[in-house]
Amino acid sequence: MKVGVLALQGAFGLHVKALERLGIDAIEVRSLDNFDASEALIIPGGESTTMSFLLESSGIFDSLRERSAEGMPILGTCAGMILLSSKITDGRSDQKPLNLMSVEIRRNGYGRQIDSFESDLSIEGFDASFRGIFIRAPLVESVGEEVEVLAEVNGRPVMCRQGSIIATSFHPELADDDRIHAEFLEMVSSS
Ligand code: GLN
Repeated sequence: MKVGVLALQGAFGLHVKALERLGIDAIEVRSLDNFDASEALIIPGGESTTMSFLLESSGIFDSLRERSAEGMPILGTCAGMILLSSKITDGRSDQKPLNLMSVEIRRNGYGRQIDSFESDLSIEGFDASFRGIFIRAPLVESVGEEVEVLAEVNGRPVMCRQGSIIATSFHPELADDDRIHAEFLEMVSSS
């Protein structure tokens, strides 16, 4: 299974490690060629404004939209969720979302770095709770009808699924718990 982890910027290293623990040698995606070799993609947390810019300049932006339309499985975490969204509030003025998931988000909507927090999440389909680690997390302000909300905090979605895309506003790679990555890999193998 060829799973790419977008490695243009940000917290990609621990996603690669999580995949390794699950028996997958990840492709670190830094170029269009790396992306073309991947059958699924993880978009990590980091700085979404920088990642947006690098996605466009590398040519991955357009290609990713095409591959997603063909059903490519994608997992976006934190900044990854921002990039996948349909609308970004409080982004950089030239920041363009991929518009692959019908969620409208507010960047840093839970506050600044100092307002980062953790919460035990009850996730649809999981027997036990999952430790959600939120770092300058995006706030989901609204979701479209086609979006399935898999977990919430204070009535706000923090994990969503739309077709073959899963997005989390928290960092599953920091939780020492590989269940979300395992679920993603199951989605990849059944796609
Ligand atoms: N606040 C960051 C952004 O807007 C995302 C933070 C994160 O990925 N931990 O890009």
